[in-house]
Amino acid sequence: MKIGFGYDVHRLVEGRRLILCGAEIPYELGLLGHSDADVAVHALMDAILGALALGDIGKLFPDSDEKYKDANSMELLGQVIEEMHKNGFTLGNLDMTIVAEKPKLAPYIPQMRENLARAFGCDTSKISVKATTEEGLGLAGSGIGAYAVVMLEENP
Ligand code: MG
Repeated sequence: MKIGFGYDVHRLVEGRRLILCGAEIPYELGLLGHSDADVAVHALMDAILGALALGDIGKLFPDSDEKYKDANSMELLGQVIEEMHKNGFTLGNLDMTIVAEKPKLAPYIPQMRENLARAFGCDTSKISVKATTEEGLGLAGSGIGAYAVVMLEENP
C-alpha cells in the first residue's frame, strides 16, 4: 500500500465558473487558474502522484503550456489515474476536505463523489468528500482550498 497527500488553493474572482470535483456550482465567483481551477481535483491528483513519488501536477501539466489553458481537470485526473494503473496500483480509498467559507457545498457533495467514482471506475464507498469553513479565519475567505489523502493498493 502507498499513501499520498495533496493540498491546493485557488483565489475566488468574478467572471469565472466554480467547478469542484467536476461539479459546476452556481455562485457569483469562480476560481482563478490556468486550467478550470478545480482545486479539489488538483489536490487529489497531487495526492496520487505523491503516493507514487512521481512529482506533482505542475511537473506533469505545466501551466506554462498553452495545451492546459482552461483544461478540464477531470480529464487531467483521468491521465493521472492511467499513470497510477500503469504503475500497478488501484485506489484503496480517498478522503478529501474542501475548505470554503462560501458557497454551501453540502448539496453538491453527492455529485462530486459520483464524478470521482466514475473517474476511478470504483464504488462511491471508496470516495469521501467533505467540506468545512475556517470560521472566517485563514485564507479561505478569498479563495477555496482542498486537502486530499489517498491510499493506493498494489495489484497482486
Ligand atoms: Mg491548482
